[in-house]
Amino acid sequence: MSVPQFRFLEHESFGRRLLGRLLPLIVLIGTGIATELILFEERSRQASLDQQKVISNAGEVRAILESELNATIHLASGLVAFIQANKGTYKLEEIEPWLVSLQKQEASIRNITLAPANRIQTIVPRQGNESAIGMYFPDNAQQWPAVEKVILSKRPALAGPFALKQGGIGLAYRVPVFLQDDQYWGLVSTILDAESVFAKAKQRGEELQLQFAVIDLDLAPDAKPLYGNINAQQDVVSRLKVNAPGRQIEIHAVPPSKQNQFFTHIQRFAGWSVAFILSVLIAKSFQFYRRQSRSYFALNESQQRFMRAFNTAPQGMALVDEDGLWISANPMLCQILGYKESDLRKISLADIAPDLAIQNLQREWQAQKNSSLQYELNLKHRNGSEVTCLLSLALIDYEKLEKAYWIFQIIDISRRVAAEKQIQANAEYTQAILNNVAEGIVCTSASGVVLSINPAAISILKFPDESFLHVDFLQLICGKENHQLLAEVAQFIQSSTAIELEESETESAYFKRENIIKDYLGNDIHIEFSISFTRQKNQTDVIFVLRDISERKYLELMQSEFVSIVSHELRTPLTSIIGSLKLIEGGIFGHLPDSLARMIHIALQNGQQLALIINDILDMDKLVAGKMDFKLEELSASTLVRSSIENNQSYARQYQINFEFDQPEQDFIVYADAQRVLQVMSNLLSNAAKFSRAGNKVEVSITRHADQLKFTVRDYGEGIPQQYQDRLFKKFSQVDGSNTRRKGGTGLGLSICKEMVERMQGEIGFNSIEGQGSSFYFTLPIVNANNKPIASST
Ligand code: ADP
Repeated sequence: MSVPQFRFLEHESFGRRLLGRLLPLIVLIGTGIATELILFEERSRQASLDQQKVISNAGEVRAILESELNATIHLASGLVAFIQANKGTYKLEEIEPWLVSLQKQEASIRNITLAPANRIQTIVPRQGNESAIGMYFPDNAQQWPAVEKVILSKRPALAGPFALKQGGIGLAYRVPVFLQDDQYWGLVSTILDAESVFAKAKQRGEELQLQFAVIDLDLAPDAKPLYGNINAQQDVVSRLKVNAPGRQIEIHAVPPSKQNQFFTHIQRFAGWSVAFILSVLIAKSFQFYRRQSRSYFALNESQQRFMRAFNTAPQGMALVDEDGLWISANPMLCQILGYKESDLRKISLADIAPDLAIQNLQREWQAQKNSSLQYELNLKHRNGSEVTCLLSLALIDYEKLEKAYWIFQIIDISRRVAAEKQIQANAEYTQAILNNVAEGIVCTSASGVVLSINPAAISILKFPDESFLHVDFLQLICGKENHQLLAEVAQFIQSSTAIELEESETESAYFKRENIIKDYLGNDIHIEFSISFTRQKNQTDVIFVLRDISERKYLELMQSEFVSIVSHELRTPLTSIIGSLKLIEGGIFGHLPDSLARMIHIALQNGQQLALIINDILDMDKLVAGKMDFKLEELSASTLVRSSIENNQSYARQYQINFEFDQPEQDFIVYADAQRVLQVMSNLLSNAAKFSRAGNKVEVSITRHADQLKFTVRDYGEGIPQQYQDRLFKKFSQVDGSNTRRKGGTGLGLSICKEMVERMQGEIGFNSIEGQGSSFYFTLPIVNANNKPIASST
């Protein structure tokens, strides 16, 4: 199984978001408009159908109406033709039966009237109409205008409707009858029952559900229709001319009154509902899509992040199934174990971590209450070596997963372990040194609490068990009574621990003293101790290194006592020997034979040499024992140099060399002991003379260096080999060579000089090149503190 790779989804664009918001609205409006359009279309179609239907129905009604009217016309035409044929005469008996039968056939004909010369003569049926007989039209103000119009136009015309004398509403079809010579005869009128004429049309109209009216165009537009009634608000969809003589009659039909709009409303409601549902669905689906894509995006991003972290993690990470099979591993894990990921899948966890019992892991996991398991283990590298790793395991166990998986994490700690082992070894090594070193080493806090102590220190200070933990080490090392030393040590510790860490790295403070103290058991011991510091994490501890020098001190005492005894015991007889020899050489016993004189001279020289040696030894002894007194005073440097040159002239002569003093113009005053300075100068001048070649010169100079005056004795003799240079100021140190031996000396001179110069706050040193000579110098403090040279008083 490989870890799925995910593609980054782009965040939802502004356009898409806008579309998500607008589309439902667009769909709502669009579908609504479509609904309205469909409804409109449907209405239009329906209207057009209705219109066609109205037109065709109106045509049908017109046909009925025309047939009703035309029947009368035919009847009238026939009667007119009969009258004309009879030249205006007729016999009532002849036409009455005919007219009666005609009238009976035509239900709508109320009566037929013959009015020769405009006076009603005959009326069929007579019954009920008797009152009309004899009526003279010109007398009838109501009817006469229309009648007159017919006569004048010579054309038949339909008149009415008007109220009939006999009751009801009638229409009159009047035909002016002209005889052959165009002579007006009279009027034939057919009175029609308007209701009956319109009844059929009405009936048919009702059958066809046609709403119509019969309009007389000659009347004012707002005049009442001849028949029927239509609402002025309604659109007339059909205007059909009705064939009626002398009249302009039209049938106006309107579409059936609006049918119930209920269905339209239902349709509209359904349409808008669909639109609404559709837009809600779209909005919801957009919302769903958005949520889906957001969560997919978040998931995707988190997976990407996880993958990135997984792949770039500085520790090895892998997914292992519950059977110990590798599912996936990150590059670091592969690197630590030396495998390719594909190769890891061919082996199991047990091959890498044989010490890890996978079958027990789940139990351990539960026992640990699901907190990650950690082990320090040796894992097997592909090359067979072992890699010490810190391993942590966490179980992923969800119901939805078929199996449980382990998240396996390792950190290669081989180096750390090796380093720790090394540190451990180093620590053991250091501890071994500390344990076996002869010096006592005690580490304390600044206040003197013992933090650690080595066996030598325990042994020197005779601490039983861990009693050192409870002592004030500063007091112990300084001695209870030695308040001055205690103050000095405390001051040193305080000032040194106050030094900042950075400074302390460059500057190492050091303190060394000797002291006689009481060990833990109360016995006196002579110790030498030094103080140094160790700084760790801003904490400064004090390290005391102490050495029991009781033995050495005892030996030194013995040695010094021995030396002084020997020296004094030697010097007293030697002085009398030298004195005696000098007397003999001086001729106290008269002139001596040459051989004896030579012997006496040699004995005197050797005696003097021996005296010199004894003096040196005694001087050194005094210096070391601190018994030599120094009388410090202000001295002229030039005077000192000149005196010392004078004192040593015998040497110059003996070795045939020349002392040269380059005296400065100004003298300097030094603060020193005159006798000791002369002693130092004598030693340097005599050495320079001794180790120069005959005829050489020895230069003496004084130069000022700040507040110190430097005295230099420069010779051009054999110089000092490099290998002897660093121990020249040690006691009894001589350059090993026949020359030196020949020249004699104790090897104590320079060490005595060093002690003396340092006691006078000066320094001593030399530069020398073998074969070219040496330059020995020492410094002494110039008196005045303000550094002004003091002019020589000489
Ligand atoms: P010594 O009494 O032997 O002269 P010093 O301490 O004065 O003792 O000198 C020690 C040694 O240093 C000498 O023995 C000699 O070897 C060497 N030395 C001192 N001064 C000089 C010098 N100017 N030139 C060469 N060697 C010198």
